[in-house]
Amino acid sequence: MTASAQFQWSKVQIQVDPQGQGVRSVYQIVEKNIKVLLGDGRNTSLYYDIWCTDVSIAEILNDQTLDTAVRVSDVMIEGIWVIPDAHLQRMIDAGLEIDNLPRPLRGEDLWVWMPEFSGEFSVRSAVSLIRKKYPNMDGASLIWRKEIHPVLAAHNWKFMCGACATSDLIKGRFKIQLAKKCCLCDTDEETLDHVLFNCSFAARARNWISGVFGINANSNLIISYKAAKGSPMVRDLWLLAKLVLKSELWAVRNKRFFEQKKPNWSIFYKRVLKIIQDYSVRLHGHMNNSDEDVVILDYFRVRHRSIKQLHPIECFWQPPNEDEILLCCDGAQELYGVIIGLEWATRWGIRKACIRSDSYSVVEALRNSNLPWFARQIWLAIVGNYEAVRFVHTYREANFVADNMAKKGCLLDNGVGIHYEGRPIF
Ligand SMILES: [Zn+2]
Repeated sequence: MTASAQFQWSKVQIQVDPQGQGVRSVYQIVEKNIKVLLGDGRNTSLYYDIWCTDVSIAEILNDQTLDTAVRVSDVMIEGIWVIPDAHLQRMIDAGLEIDNLPRPLRGEDLWVWMPEFSGEFSVRSAVSLIRKKYPNMDGASLIWRKEIHPVLAAHNWKFMCGACATSDLIKGRFKIQLAKKCCLCDTDEETLDHVLFNCSFAARARNWISGVFGINANSNLIISYKAAKGSPMVRDLWLLAKLVLKSELWAVRNKRFFEQKKPNWSIFYKRVLKIIQDYSVRLHGHMNNSDEDVVILDYFRVRHRSIKQLHPIECFWQPPNEDEILLCCDGAQELYGVIIGLEWATRWGIRKACIRSDSYSVVEALRNSNLPWFARQIWLAIVGNYEAVRFVHTYREANFVADNMAKKGCLLDNGVGIHYEGRPIF
């Protein structure tokens, strides 16, 4: 294994000490992320399993001497909480709201893996829990896209991390004297920014590409990308051209530095065009039906793409059935909105509900009872109050009341809710 590979591996390893604390700590992490959705409570330890809050009672009380044999079924008779005094006091000490304990589901206890909404264990989420996390680097999501070839992305990743042996870095790290000047222009000191953006050779390349697209280039990739307007195809091509340019400028610098080959503009120009054309096969965005797009694509000899066609769709608002209450929802917390709405509507003794949402995934999840694990208990309890609950998918344009309310809701502070009885003033 090379030194650099060892270095990378150290980033994903967890600390494992000779007493095996590492494996034990991983086990503890796994244990702390498993919760029991109560059924009959027979397989769940009252004190040591997580079933009520997100922590076990033993951990809240910091007491490992509690009886391990007590099951949740010992404090429950046919789904109703009947708690003997000895256990009741400890549960109160642990801060559990006794009037608000979870309502058991039918059947056996169900173990869920909390980091996943589905409750199913996945290696990916487990790795994400134990790995050491580093801050996201700006622009990383731009270059590691499927439209960008991994080799090109890897080159640009190095530039982004500043992992290039330019003279200023070598001098700083090894305290040695090197030729100070950039080997391409022989005027300024060599830094990465200089080679890829400010050097006269880089400036010529930048002006050329900027001229073709009619966009001002910026040394910051994100600012550059945001400056691009137009069709998805042209924006992706602009990003690709920028990445290819950087990668090829670095190659020119290396040829000069290590092989003493003088940079030749004509060769560079043809090579960049060819590489952009080759890599463009990965681009799949739509183009606009405009002269500008055609000119740019023809310039790089990129195959023309399909144009996005808009097909108008008719949508209607339909009233609910006579004996139903209609709940319209929209926004970020649709599932939560539906649950609160259904809970609220029980006050009027309504037994049938129709739920209308513009999110197809929410409608499908509700229809199939395929809910996130944390909503399953409360959902089943609330739906039990209704004779029938119907789900309808609609377009936002026909769900205008909810759309309007959701937009106002976005402006509220965290944790604040407003309700209106009757028609609001707006
Ligand atoms: Zn230079």
